[in-house]
Formats: sequence, structure tokens, C-alpha cells
Amino acid sequence: MTIRPLPKRPAPLRDELLSSWIARLAVANYCSVQEFCGYLGLADERLPETRSELQGVNLERFGTITRLSPSAMNSMLIRRCPRFPVECISRSDFQVCSTCNNETPGVSLRHWRYAWSTICNSCGLELRKRPV
Ligand SMILES: [Zn+2]
Repeated sequence: MTIRPLPKRPAPLRDELLSSWIARLAVANYCSVQEFCGYLGLADERLPETRSELQGVNLERFGTITRLSPSAMNSMLIRRCPRFPVECISRSDFQVCSTCNNETPGVSLRHWRYAWSTICNSCGLELRKRPV
């Protein structure tokens, strides 16, 4: 089977999480997130956020489909540091920038996950607790 790049590819935002961008790619190409993750070869059809969640994925095929370079992909992943006693990096979107989220629905930026982030690095506004 010939692997072709996706017909629609919204550009990733600066500091966007890979999981956020893959979900936006799925929406842009009229796929369900689960179906799209399966097509990309992601384990358990889950959105990856760390390097370890990409183990076993054919990254060359992934890069062809998404037109994402390995270095760009690396910059979209959360780096976990097991040697730190505490990481202070959330595993979920506990805070959000409502302005950026209104401009790009569903977007999640990497620095929003950091407990020490209080300001959106993209627009400069204060981050808010994500509504439940
Ligand atoms: Zn913002």
C-alpha cells in the first residue's frame, strides 16, 4: 500500500503537544481520533505525549503521513525525568489559555501542562484552570 501525506494538514502551533495536533489532524481530515490513531499505527489507538508512547511506531511512515520531521516531533513531546523526585508536569490539561483555545479549538500547548506556568507563552495572557 502506498503511503500518502494527509490531504489536509493544519500547521502545528508553536509548543503544541503532539497529542493535540494529531487530534486536530483527525478533525481536519474528517476522521475519528481513534480511527486516525489506528491509521498512524499508534499503540492502543491513543494520542501520544511522550517518546515512550511512540515505541513500536513506524516513525518513517508516521512522518510521511503527517509531513512532520523527527526534530519537530521531538519538540512536541513531553519529556519525563524519572530522576527528579517530583516533575510538576500534569498528565492532563489542568489549565488553558481561553484566547488561544478560542482561536484554535481543541489546541493544547506543552507549557500549559507545567505546574510552574502561569502565563501563556503564545499570547501572554494568564492561564486559567480548565473548566470541567
Ligand atoms: Zn494564549
